[in-house]
Amino acid sequence: MNHYDAIIVGGGPAGSAAATVLAEAGLSVILLEEKRMPRHKVCGEFITPECFPTLRRLGVFESIRTAGAQEITQLRLNDVNGRMLQVPIADISRDSTWAIGLSRYRFDQILLDRARAAGAVCLEGFAVKRSVSENGAICGVEGMSLIDGKMRVFQAPIVFDASGRNSRLTVSRDERVGGRHGRRLYALKAHLTGVTGIQDQVELYFFPEGYGGLSRVEDDFVNLCLIISERTLKESAGEGLKIVRRTVMKNKLARARLAQAEVSGKWLSAGPLTFGRRSLSENGVIPIGDAGGMIDPFTGTGMQIALRTGEMAAQSLIECVKPSAIADGPIHGSVEASEPYMQSGGWHRTLPEVLARYRSKYQQEFGKPMAVARMLRQAVFSPRSVELVGRILVRSPRLARRMLRATRVQKSS
Ligand SMILES: Cc1cc2nc3c(=O)[nH]c(=O)nc-3n(C[C@H](O)[C@H](O)[C@H](O)COP(=O)(O)OP(=O)(O)OC[C@H]3O[C@@H](n4cnc5c(N)ncnc54)[C@H](O)[C@@H]3O)c2cc1C
Repeated sequence: MNHYDAIIVGGGPAGSAAATVLAEAGLSVILLEEKRMPRHKVCGEFITPECFPTLRRLGVFESIRTAGAQEITQLRLNDVNGRMLQVPIADISRDSTWAIGLSRYRFDQILLDRARAAGAVCLEGFAVKRSVSENGAICGVEGMSLIDGKMRVFQAPIVFDASGRNSRLTVSRDERVGGRHGRRLYALKAHLTGVTGIQDQVELYFFPEGYGGLSRVEDDFVNLCLIISERTLKESAGEGLKIVRRTVMKNKLARARLAQAEVSGKWLSAGPLTFGRRSLSENGVIPIGDAGGMIDPFTGTGMQIALRTGEMAAQSLIECVKPSAIADGPIHGSVEASEPYMQSGGWHRTLPEVLARYRSKYQQEFGKPMAVARMLRQAVFSPRSVELVGRILVRSPRLARRMLRATRVQKSS
């Protein structure tokens, strides 16, 4: 079958959340994911309590907890000299006194399995190349199967772009690689064994070239994730161990934690990283998750935005198609679609309404955290000043708490 009610490009948290909500409501949905899952991903793997309400509504909270999730009750900020500020998760969240540490390898697989179980067709190893329009209206996407190399077109009147911050569908090349050469930011991540002293806390370390964090994930692994300058990356020839020695090991506490550490598997890198809000509609495609805007990783809010925007964009569509399909609380509406709605041609008219609803929900929930993150980024978060910021924050508990609260959604939906 090539015709669907909705196409979702990307099988990360945003795409799987949207696919689950739409499929549960009875719509015919296809999710196209370039990689074969499960796959590792550059991420701090810190799942904030503000994600929990959506994870519960999606029906995956217990699966996540039993997949080896680690309970994290403390956030520790450490300046380069080893001075520390400890902030209980309970002080910065209203949803829970603990957060979760779980690899994206497991987290994303659980979410994708859920979308499949809800009835979404999830095609892995399929890279979407472009959106397809007819008479000025979006009508599908074209891409290539990475399994047999064949090009295919899938049709639907609504396309959600959940393909992340490097989306080929909705993010221009300039935006993807933006920033001055040499001063751009890159990220590096690996799972480690032999790290000492990381239990129920996530630790952030500031150092002259950037910042990074350690937190426990499943199976006794500790995730190390660093944000560093392009210059540091180049000077270390992109070699993980060299980078670690030149950056995070300058932080006194991190040096102690990592003294006996060994890398398990491969180093992963990503970048250049660009942050900030983007347009919520490009050529009739609706971006969700990072494709619609990426919040700075130090906020730990990216996965919450991905899950929620997936959920809210899908709900916006369902509300426009059939208001009675929306149920309060857990998702269990049904649109009673006997055939794809696109065949009636009616959805083209509803796209502006879907967008208006989605934009309004987005602004209400994420407008402020996005704006605060932008201000902080412009003011202080360059590799040059990040170490100074770290020093200020660990000496100013009230300021640190205010900053952490302001970049997160306080009243989660
Ligand atoms: C260094 C770093 C650390 C971070 N740490 C945290 C953290 O600790 N906590 C947190 O909450 N957030 C964190 N984030 C943010 C978080 O990783 C993102 O916000 C989140 O992954 C966004 O989810 P998404 O579903 O929008 O996109 P993604 O997770 O990026 O998923 C997009 C999917 O689309 C697929 N795809 C891409 N292109 C195509 C295509 N053309 N066709 C088909 N499929 C395609 C990709 O393979 C991928 O699976 C961090 C980000 C970075 C860079």
